[in-house]
Amino acid sequence: MPVITFGILIFTGAAHFSSMTLAMTAATVAVFVFVLSVLSIKPLIESLEELALEKEGFEQKMAEHSGMFVKTADERVKKERLAAIGEMASIISHEIRNPLAVISNSAKLIRAITGEDNPKLQRQFSIIDNEVRQANRIVEEVLGYARNRKQILSRVRINDYMKEVALSQSLPSNIRLEQHYCAENPVISVDAEEMKLAFRNIIANAVDVMPSGGVLCVGTRCGKKAVEISIKDEGIGMGEETRLKLFTPFFTTKARGTGLGLAVVKKAVQNNRGKVFVESEKGEGTLFKIYLKREK
Ligand code: ADP
Ligand code: MG
Repeated sequence: MPVITFGILIFTGAAHFSSMTLAMTAATVAVFVFVLSVLSIKPLIESLEELALEKEGFEQKMAEHSGMFVKTADERVKKERLAAIGEMASIISHEIRNPLAVISNSAKLIRAITGEDNPKLQRQFSIIDNEVRQANRIVEEVLGYARNRKQILSRVRINDYMKEVALSQSLPSNIRLEQHYCAENPVISVDAEEMKLAFRNIIANAVDVMPSGGVLCVGTRCGKKAVEISIKDEGIGMGEETRLKLFTPFFTTKARGTGLGLAVVKKAVQNNRGKVFVESEKGEGTLFKIYLKREK
């Protein structure tokens, strides 16, 4: 009996022991499997995280690209619109220029026949002259702003070129033109037509601010690498507020101004790799200085 009891004890003990061992083994295996699975999942998680990051980056890049795409598309539409406006402006401008030339010539002819000694008629003819000049100027400024043609570079001797520009502008009789040029007459390479329009716009403004007359000074100074072209008036000058907005398209303080004259100047100077500076105080007149590179 004790043998049986002992036997049973051993058996149950063994069974107990073996079930404990089993449980422990199972637990170890579970832990092992868990550790293993964590270890094997970790790189998976890491690669998933990397993937998520990559996805984020990709999405960001996509957003940037689509933003860029929208931007370039916008810019393309803007360019196309500007080109269309430019084309339209040039057609309308030509259509207006021709009748203006006819009006001006006819007025001159009638003046020569009838108006010489009639002060009332003389006055009417100067009104026609002024209005035609004003209309031509608006056409020229709009054309200059809207124009998007290819640059045509030519080599010009700066003093000869500036003399021609200054004389191409019909000045009112109460404005005296003074010219001071440097001794040298260096060559510059510019789009002569584009720059001529820019200088004419500066001169036109100078004329505007001297309604009761004055001196308009055009000159050059020659440095080793660049030439300075100056245009100076004796007009009302300008305060800081105006000076800051000067080159902004459509900024004008004139009742009939386009606000495009100096925007054209800025564009032309930039296109010709130059610089433009303004010196002006209220009541002190204004000096425009333009620097253009000398040809080597
Ligand atoms: P607009 O002549 O049609 O007004 P601009 O772009 O040529 O357009 O000039 C912009 C503004 O800059 C003018 O309205 C004027 O207020 C100012 N401005 C330009 N040139 C001069 C100048 N020489 N003296 C004083 N103010 C000037
Ligand atoms: Mg102007």
